[in-house]
Amino acid sequence: MKQLLWINGEHVEGEISEPLYSPYSKEMISEVARASKEQFHEAIQAAHEAFPTFKSIPAFKRAEILEKVVAFLKRDREECARLIAQEAAKPIKTALAEVDRTIMTYTFAAQEARRIYGETIPLDAAPGGEGRVAFTVREPLGVVAAITPFNFPMNLVAHKVGPAIASGNTVVLKPASQTPLSAYRIAHYFHEAGLPKGVLNVVTGSGKIAGEAFVKDERVKMITFTGSPVVGKWLREHAGLKRVTLELGSNSAVIVDEGVNISNIVPRVVTGAFTYQGQVCISVQRIFVHSSLYDSFVDQFVKETKKLTLGNPLHHETDISALISEEEVERIQNWIQEAVNHGARLEYGGKVINRMLQPTVLLNASLSDKISCQEVFGPVVHINRFDYFDEVIEAVNDSSYGLQVGVYTNDVNKAFRASRELHVGGVMINEIPTFRVDHMPYGGVKMSGMGREGIKYAIEEVTEIKLISFKLTE
Ligand code: NAP
Repeated sequence: MKQLLWINGEHVEGEISEPLYSPYSKEMISEVARASKEQFHEAIQAAHEAFPTFKSIPAFKRAEILEKVVAFLKRDREECARLIAQEAAKPIKTALAEVDRTIMTYTFAAQEARRIYGETIPLDAAPGGEGRVAFTVREPLGVVAAITPFNFPMNLVAHKVGPAIASGNTVVLKPASQTPLSAYRIAHYFHEAGLPKGVLNVVTGSGKIAGEAFVKDERVKMITFTGSPVVGKWLREHAGLKRVTLELGSNSAVIVDEGVNISNIVPRVVTGAFTYQGQVCISVQRIFVHSSLYDSFVDQFVKETKKLTLGNPLHHETDISALISEEEVERIQNWIQEAVNHGARLEYGGKVINRMLQPTVLLNASLSDKISCQEVFGPVVHINRFDYFDEVIEAVNDSSYGLQVGVYTNDVNKAFRASRELHVGGVMINEIPTFRVDHMPYGGVKMSGMGREGIKYAIEEVTEIKLISFKLTE
């Protein structure tokens, strides 16, 4: 089946169309339209024209549209998961979990659409401000350009489209070229739910052409991007006065302090490391274990890792499937080799079986090796030991990234110290860094990005505050 662009409420042929292959089987799944530069601008124009009417639609109607999308997702849960599994090689049980989270994300968007508040401002707190009543309202920005990555093709679209529509913005969405089908499916649901034409446009094609169109076009008021730091930085540097939020990569760490019951936590840490082949921005990559527990932690971690099943993403028993591309497999293998050449011990994994990289466990990697200090974005962890809490906090902070950290400890003082001293967007005590539910504020510091998602917080990003002051005349 051929997938066309979705502009101004209509299917539109692209400049060309390209085959889309399954990363696992390499079979052709679909043919997908690729937009020309002009078509990105046409989509922006459609969103621009739809904005004045859409921003005046009452909140309850925007909420009802989002609620209908939730109902369609619930109805088609299995089918949506299969779509994700096919285009992203995401194991079906993880794909089902993504659909469930997408349902939550749009549910929160529908709820938040009904509670976008301002506040009253006591202007008479300053001399000269007497005799006035003042309040703020939050207004939508206008056309929001959203760019999404391949790894959560449905829920990361929801994190951009949900808050934008909840607050009365219009959207041009450019999904990742490998995973366009989930995004088009969502556009179809919004159309069925009665979203006016032009409010949501989905345009596939070159990321570079999309990026250039979005940064240069004055009608785009905001760019919301999730993806790699290199692209995020380029967008930020070229976006001028447009608002920009960036959700970028990480090399997330977990700390396992002395005295922790490791049998209780090892399965959870393995899940955090290898879910969706480690292609998750908050995947566990660096594990620091107190020396007193190190040997037994490694032993249990490897035993648990060996239980994971590699295979077809459409099979329910599969835990790990193919990486998104062969280039990624090669890059990660080179990084593993570099770490081993520099003295790390390859404790488990490292082999490629039918385009699937085995879950890989390295011990005592140098923290300056790519496998530690850059984002692996694959099924690879390293486990290192520490003796002092100071030392491990310093090691975790010694990173260009700062998204989330997990800290397992029984010592409440250390928990509070870690919360205070770790320079990241979120500290998860007695949990893996991979923890996320969809209404919490989520985002990073340093190279992990700027701005926050989590519906209420994303709505703050896609709206601006207007102050209204009434001077009393009597
Ligand atoms: P990517 O290569 O940066 O691609 C992300 C999106 O940007 C795709 O739609 C891509 O289009 C587009 N793009 C590429 N070049 C562009 C340009 N010059 N201007 C504008 N857009 C451009 O990232 P990815 O490989 O899909 O995703 C992996 C990265 O995303 C990792 O670093 C991961 O940590 C990060 N991520 C972060 C979060 C978070 O919430 N912090 C969540 C998920 C993923 P094409 O596909 O057409 O190239």
